Amino acid sequence: MSENREWMYRRFLPDGAFNPAFVRGLQEFIDFANSREDLMDGHKIRCPCRRCDNIKFHTSRNVQYHISKNGFVLNYHIWRFHGELEMMATEYNQFDADDDNEDDQSTYHNMAIDVAASQFNIEQPPNPEAQQLYDMLSDADRELWPGCKTHSQLSLVARLMCLKAEGNMSERCFDQWLELIKEILPEHNLAPNNFYSTKKLLSEMGLPVEKIDCCRNNCMLFWGEDSEDIECKHCNEPRYQQSDTSSACSSRTLVAVKKMFYFPLTPRLQRLYASKATAADMRWHASSVDDGIMRHPADSPTWKHLSQKFPSFAEESRNVRLGLSTDGFQPFGQLGQQYSSWPVIVTPYN
Ligand SMILES: [Zn+2]
Ligand SMILES: [Zn+2]
Repeated sequence: MSENREWMYRRFLPDGAFNPAFVRGLQEFIDFANSREDLMDGHKIRCPCRRCDNIKFHTSRNVQYHISKNGFVLNYHIWRFHGELEMMATEYNQFDADDDNEDDQSTYHNMAIDVAASQFNIEQPPNPEAQQLYDMLSDADRELWPGCKTHSQLSLVARLMCLKAEGNMSERCFDQWLELIKEILPEHNLAPNNFYSTKKLLSEMGLPVEKIDCCRNNCMLFWGEDSEDIECKHCNEPRYQQSDTSSACSSRTLVAVKKMFYFPLTPRLQRLYASKATAADMRWHASSVDDGIMRHPADSPTWKHLSQKFPSFAEESRNVRLGLSTDGFQPFGQLGQQYSSWPVIVTPYN
């Protein structure tokens, strides 16, 4: 693709008329984009106009109109969203870089390989966050005591927490059991000492919880660009509890009137792809066969309707479909009428 693409950003001649080179080039671009059916959405192509920024798909006619009106998005000399980089990668593989333009070519080459790796299943090393998790896991996966074959520190901790939750065990009871387990185990074992250290070990696995302050009347969250506000921008209720004895409460101990717990979604979804087993499950819905029997949300008309409506989303089976549900309850029964909790639960349907 050595041809000159200057025409892309010279839409008009000095007298204000369309530049014939632009009109010609635009037609070439449209033809090129239409030659790569695999990158199209049905008969629509990605629109590289300044507004759509290669995100939206439109018919050729509309794309032509958009580009004439808005111009090409800046620095789009290589039509990489329309398949040009892959072609260049193969071209440069054939001719070894012996040209005068070596630098340029190797950058293009690397870019092409990046794109290729993300499009095809080439194994890549984990990113730093994933690597950190794997390191932590292998660290916690040590044998419970020298020579132990049945449990690792991690498996014990996970089991214990599960028992605690299922049996509704108090922290005190948990600590006492742990004490007993520690006594029974051989010396130099890695069993945690108490609930606190158990929880700490698990929290290092890094699925954080955020506490976000909210308005007393539920109008807004003090989050994002509002995170520094001290009163609600809708009802002007203060964010923090007002101290009646102003001297006792210094500015250091601000207590929010209301808080919500947020379990950040993105790292949890990423985690589903961090293990081979769950990553395969996340794509299971794409391999299920439609035999007319309803077994999974993927068999439902709603699922299919969504796929039809958003074909480019449906095309990538790794995209996550989430169901959202919520219901209110009174945590203290009828006794505490003034309290209510509304958990909002998001479930991946893949
Ligand atoms: Zn456009
Ligand atoms: Zn408010």
